[in-house]
Amino acid sequence: MEITAIILDGKALSQKIKNDLKQQAQSLKEKGVVPRLAVVIVGNDSASRIYVNAKKKACEEIGIISEEYALAENTTEQQLLELVEKLNNNEEVNGILVQLPLPGHINENAVINAISPDKDVDAFHPVNVGKIMIGNYDFLPCTPAAIMELISQSGIDTEGKECVVIGRSNIVGKPVAMLLLHSHGTVTICHSRTKNLAQVIKRADIVVAAVGRAEMITGDMIKDGAVVIDVGINRQEGKKIVGDVHFESCEKKAYAITPVPGGVGPMTIAMLMKNTIKSADISLKKRKKI
Ligand code: NDP
Repeated sequence: MEITAIILDGKALSQKIKNDLKQQAQSLKEKGVVPRLAVVIVGNDSASRIYVNAKKKACEEIGIISEEYALAENTTEQQLLELVEKLNNNEEVNGILVQLPLPGHINENAVINAISPDKDVDAFHPVNVGKIMIGNYDFLPCTPAAIMELISQSGIDTEGKECVVIGRSNIVGKPVAMLLLHSHGTVTICHSRTKNLAQVIKRADIVVAAVGRAEMITGDMIKDGAVVIDVGINRQEGKKIVGDVHFESCEKKAYAITPVPGGVGPMTIAMLMKNTIKSADISLKKRKKI
């Protein structure tokens, strides 16, 4: 049966969230805390530059001060760790974001582990990952949080639903699977070694594609009426950006679907802003206790 899916408009929803956050930032300012995000970028990766600029723009919109630290490609791991330590100790900084990927000579895990868990607005630090696992957290990782927000704000119930996540990365696949589990979904995680992927996807009420392969999920792979969340951002030379989902064929079968661009991407940035405001709020509460 051919249906036309509801488009889960991440651009519109993120704007609504940013408007609320703007008010929260204003209220924090009136109480003496100006939310501040330190953004560290190393090297000249063009995609990273696009993401960093979008994050800075969102900060400006909301009233968060964004401090950019643009370091040269040949920055050593030690130099980066020293900067992170300086930012950890700067009471005015509420959030620290080190844009990934880092150049190959820098150990990403060492850098993630060095960020204070209290300022880890990406929620990549093992302490925050552990907190997410047990369901008692301050910060959620931005893309998984974006996915959950898109699902819940659209009135889609996850309880008892078959959820299939394709991709098992630490930043998307694993944490979103955990959040779907917390929200009572029955979750399957697929990856490059999964056998009969199409069959597994076919049984899903909710499909989350976080693979990094242009348009690999096609309409014939999904069930009629499935919710399809496309996390992928695939930049191909001379072509428009596409997701991991073949939008045209899936739109005809899905109940709801996220577009790329304009779905998970803008919501991810809104979630980063939300974490930064939350961190500023926590620091204000701590200050009051002293
Ligand atoms: P990773 O490369 O870290 O992980 C990709 C995952 O996909 C891996 O688990 C891999 O399996 C799996 N995979 C690869 N090929 C296949 C296949 N043929 N069948 C099944 N599984 C496969 O990517 P990320 O999680 O970091 O990102 C995924 C996508 O989401 C990318 O396009 C990225 O650009 C995008 N992204 C978008 C964001 C947003 O804000 N919208 C934020 C973050 C990422 P295995 O583990 O076995 O190798």
